Amino acid sequence: MGAMGGISEMPQVTEGPGTADSEALATLHRVFGYEAFRGEQEEIIEHVVAGGDALVLMPTGGGKSLCYQIPALVRAGTGVVISPLIALMQDQVDALRALGVRAGFVNSTQDFDERRLVEAEFLAGELDLLYLAPERLRLDTTLDLLSRGKISVFAIDEAHCVSQWGHDFRPDYLALSLLGERWPDVPRIALTATATRATHQEITQRLNLPTARHFVASFDRPNIQYRIVPKADPKKQLLAFLREEHAGDAGIVYCLSRNSVERTAEFLTANGIEAVPYHAGLDARVRAAHQSRFLREEGLVVVATIAFGMGIDKPDVRFVAHLDLPKSIEGYYQETGRAGRDGLASTAWMAYGLNDVIQQRKLIQSGEGDEAFRRRAAAHVDAMLALCETAQCRRGQLLVYFDQAPDAAGCGNCDTCLTPPETWDGTIAAQKALSTVVRLQRERGQKFGAVQIVDILLGKRTGKVIQFDHDQLSVFGIGTDLTETEWRGVIRQLLAQGLLAVEGEYGTLALTEASGTVLRREREVPLRKEPKKPAAARTRSGGSGGGKAKAAAAELPDELLPAFEALRAWRAEQAREQGVPPYIIFNDATLRGIVTLKPASVGDLGTVSGVGEKKLAMYGEGVLTVLASLGGPAPAAGDSQDADWPEPDEEPEPDEWI
Ligand code: ADP
Ligand code: ZN
Repeated sequence: MGAMGGISEMPQVTEGPGTADSEALATLHRVFGYEAFRGEQEEIIEHVVAGGDALVLMPTGGGKSLCYQIPALVRAGTGVVISPLIALMQDQVDALRALGVRAGFVNSTQDFDERRLVEAEFLAGELDLLYLAPERLRLDTTLDLLSRGKISVFAIDEAHCVSQWGHDFRPDYLALSLLGERWPDVPRIALTATATRATHQEITQRLNLPTARHFVASFDRPNIQYRIVPKADPKKQLLAFLREEHAGDAGIVYCLSRNSVERTAEFLTANGIEAVPYHAGLDARVRAAHQSRFLREEGLVVVATIAFGMGIDKPDVRFVAHLDLPKSIEGYYQETGRAGRDGLASTAWMAYGLNDVIQQRKLIQSGEGDEAFRRRAAAHVDAMLALCETAQCRRGQLLVYFDQAPDAAGCGNCDTCLTPPETWDGTIAAQKALSTVVRLQRERGQKFGAVQIVDILLGKRTGKVIQFDHDQLSVFGIGTDLTETEWRGVIRQLLAQGLLAVEGEYGTLALTEASGTVLRREREVPLRKEPKKPAAARTRSGGSGGGKAKAAAAELPDELLPAFEALRAWRAEQAREQGVPPYIIFNDATLRGIVTLKPASVGDLGTVSGVGEKKLAMYGEGVLTVLASLGGPAPAAGDSQDADWPEPDEEPEPDEWI
């Protein structure tokens, strides 16, 4: 299609031994302990190792990091990673060091001596990877440092930060175009999980990457279950969702305002779910502490504004919940994408209601920016609303938004696929609602918000109805066939379909050009039925019952749970001793691999995905000892792989945190 210009779309992976069937693959096995490359990884790596520039668009959890880490390991010199995530650099470097990779970072959190040490390592050629914040490239001292060392590749992470339209714009990213001018022979790879064509083209232009090869991965995240429920009592709905489906799990809850962030975190804590707030209004130290806890503890919930989350590579975030409507599908997709990086089942859950629609439309109208800006913002909200109101597969709608082909039969893992919504002919209801708006305006010259419209339809003699004599209108009480919730659903859907508009600072309702076609009976208005009991949660196979790691472990057969829990307890102890997040030791997916294989020897253990050379050397014996203590095969035995593992006498000690 035209808009992509000369971009080569997702070339097929070539079969057979290529050049990468060599050092790159050997590095993947040895350092990372992974069996095979995923998707486009191999081709991207081959291209960059050969010196080519690349733009990589891959969803969160798709495996972007390897695309620059392996070239940095294979090519001579140090890979320089530009990342805006200063607060996460330490963890990123720790994770690499745990794999035996020589990594370091330079940023403003370091003191002089620490920085000098890293710089010396870089100059001595002793670093495989060096992480830098973009603002450092404005400093001549940094450019001078870089020009005195040998650079294998520049990786520009979170490359969408260069986009002025995006929500993560960082002015310092604009200066990154100089990298190509100063180091024309060093390949550059820009990576992002933001997928629209507009952002895509902006990155190419602003980073000056005209000849970069574009790699566009599938944006599908099949392990994430997408669900959008009508909002009734959002905090209670959230609580029920967490209790029934995600007890003991780590997750993120997004709210629009700082105030609701604070209140929601307090509410969850008061109800026995450990939650901490995160927003830009908190002291930087408090924010850093909360982020650090989220990464290091296993079952913490962070309630946050969108200030939280970019670059958080915690693999075991089991759910992302939205209590307010995000401003765009891009934002929603980025945020929900933080769930389930480890590929295990996760949920993206959102509660959404009439007030969200009104609120967002009002924000745009009363917000800053010129007409073009508003139109763009309105189009983003409209796309988001269409996703909320669709009776089709949610995943399909998301993929289409990102110009990718959905599965025609539906995904089978979103709410509309799992429980297809009923629709009903809402034409008459729509006419009643629109007529009420018309009467108020024509007969009284008045405009009112949704609450008053619904009260009039229901024939309620509220104070405000009596005050304005609205019980004298001919439409008063014409809507007693529907409940208040149903009427709010009708109005919400009329807004989403563009058959009603929101105006002014009070969010009053007004007709649109399209309203006439409904009033003149020129079209029908199909509507989604409001579920009788909103947010009735379906539990997954795990059934009820709380406890740590229930959901993460839910896909394991019961008899393997004791081993899984024992390994988690062992991991927590290792993490605490080293002061690193537990997933840096081994992530959940790797622990699951271990308990499923039941390795009886260090050699067996090394075949598990995620167990590389360094980790095998460091933890091999420890893991086998834990397994043996459960009554399974002793490390030395080696011949009784299929022995049953009896239940331990007691539950393992509950994990203890910081
Ligand atoms: P992204 O940066 O795109 O969000 P990551 O690079 O963090 O994704 O990768 C997500 C997860 O998948 C990580 O736990 C990573 O180690 C793992 N992973 C990446 N590539 C592979 C692979 N080829 N085989 C197995 N696991 C992989
Ligand atoms: Zn679906």
